[in-house]
Amino acid sequence: MAAFTQEQKEYLASRIQETYPFLAQNAVGQFTNDPEEAVYGTPIDELSKEELVKYKQHGLDCWDTMLTNAAKNIFPNEDDMFRYKFYGMFHVKPTQDSFMLRCRIPGGILNSFQFKGLAEIAADWGGNYTDITTRGNMQIREIMPKNVVNVLQKLTDIGLTSRGAGADNVRNVTATPTSGFDPQELIDVAPLAKAMHHYILNDRELYGLPRKFNISFDSGGQVSTCADTNDIGFYAIRAGAAADVEPGVYFRVQLCGITGHKQLASDCGLLVHPDEAVAVAAAILRVFLEHGDRSNRKRARMKYLIDDWGHGKFLEHVQEKLAFDLRFVPLENCEPMPKKNRQGHFGIHPQKQQGLSYVGVVTPVGRMLPEQMHQLAALTNRFGSGNMRLTAWQNLIIPDIRNEDIPSFIAQLKIIGFNHTTSNVAGGLVACTGNVGCKFAAANTKAHSRILTEYIEQHLELDTPLNIHLTGCPHSCAQHYVGDIGLQGAQCKVDGKSVEGYHIVLGGGVDDNGAIAQDVFQAVPFSEIPDLVVQMLKTYLAKRQDNED
Ligand code: SF4
Repeated sequence: MAAFTQEQKEYLASRIQETYPFLAQNAVGQFTNDPEEAVYGTPIDELSKEELVKYKQHGLDCWDTMLTNAAKNIFPNEDDMFRYKFYGMFHVKPTQDSFMLRCRIPGGILNSFQFKGLAEIAADWGGNYTDITTRGNMQIREIMPKNVVNVLQKLTDIGLTSRGAGADNVRNVTATPTSGFDPQELIDVAPLAKAMHHYILNDRELYGLPRKFNISFDSGGQVSTCADTNDIGFYAIRAGAAADVEPGVYFRVQLCGITGHKQLASDCGLLVHPDEAVAVAAAILRVFLEHGDRSNRKRARMKYLIDDWGHGKFLEHVQEKLAFDLRFVPLENCEPMPKKNRQGHFGIHPQKQQGLSYVGVVTPVGRMLPEQMHQLAALTNRFGSGNMRLTAWQNLIIPDIRNEDIPSFIAQLKIIGFNHTTSNVAGGLVACTGNVGCKFAAANTKAHSRILTEYIEQHLELDTPLNIHLTGCPHSCAQHYVGDIGLQGAQCKVDGKSVEGYHIVLGGGVDDNGAIAQDVFQAVPFSEIPDLVVQMLKTYLAKRQDNED
């Protein structure tokens, strides 16, 4: 087993000294020439580049660097650029030579004060707009190095954080966005999402996973949170005598959803009581922490550990971490999962609380302006309870509106430029950032999504909800493999010239319609796509049987 070479040691020392002149001794002292040194069993000289950065200095320990760089308005060196992601700060060059802040908003649950605070951050230190993400989260772009600390301090002031929002951490914990007021839900999962969020935040060791990790809680409610696209998806379900358990609500546990790798999460056989869910997720995380691949980034997600070990061996390790016995029950011994309402995230819907309704507000591909956000926050206070929810469908939900106030609320919503209704096409549109803000993108996904929607609406009357997901690259932030129609950005050639286009996949879905879409067309120039999609939809409408999806 090789130790550090002299060159490596000098490199590490110089990196530290660049940004930590007054800490050079201590920091360099972290390194060792001991050939036995290892990170969770992986020898130091076999660590991937990113693992070596984490080994040299914990990602959260870059606050001094941020202060220094903010004072000088400079970007950090390459290693610290990676550590900034531990605070949710992503340098998005070359599309924008600035940072993007990704927050943590567990369950997508905000209050109007926090919503206004985010609008202020975007106006004061960002690009004067915000984006709702496909994890029911918020991103703010165009933040210069001098404002990084200001932004992070303000985020804390409004009761939010971005710790662990990027790099090799557990990302924003998602939950059914109607949790707590959905008449169909089996259990309110908001407290579980919050408990999971705080568990992660308060254990420094969990900021050092081999790779990113996603966790989601589905309440059985009517709005999907795409839990089966997560590394762990908890699905609420009823079980009783057939499962040999006390009758009640439990969770099925699905593992290893990575849609960018064309894989939805699958049921691993576990039936978990709600009181056990956070502990089971924590145990899974710790097994992944200790045994995930730290040499090869391409194989560092939990999926690859479970592919190597199988569910059986993996869950044996999970069991060893728990003080209670795991419960294995065949899926068919539980009641079926409740069906989703594909239009439940927009429009007016009754709550389980008598006399109250929630309104899903359409925010096309998730973008909002600060002025609109202030007005929306004021309306939320006036007509609702101040509670707001962000969805995986890149829109937001305002709950707790008295039924008799709905007409006034809708009228006011329209005055500030928002709507609660939309077409079957626009309501299921999801687009990642695209090439106006992400260096990986091969196409302008957000602009194309609008053009495509308008074209379809002008040429077709669609009587059923349709999900179109546009993603700029194989990372699949917009999860194109679970769209009815999925587009993945691709450079195409037309008359010898390079133009923006997409690979096209068809037939994806989530939850009770779970399926990975099939590759159908490769590298189609965008100029040809609107008409092609309309032709495909006409064929579908003509040939479908019994209103099939
Ligand atoms: Fe960027 Fe690719 Fe993610 Fe789109 S899918 S935001 S292009 S990384």
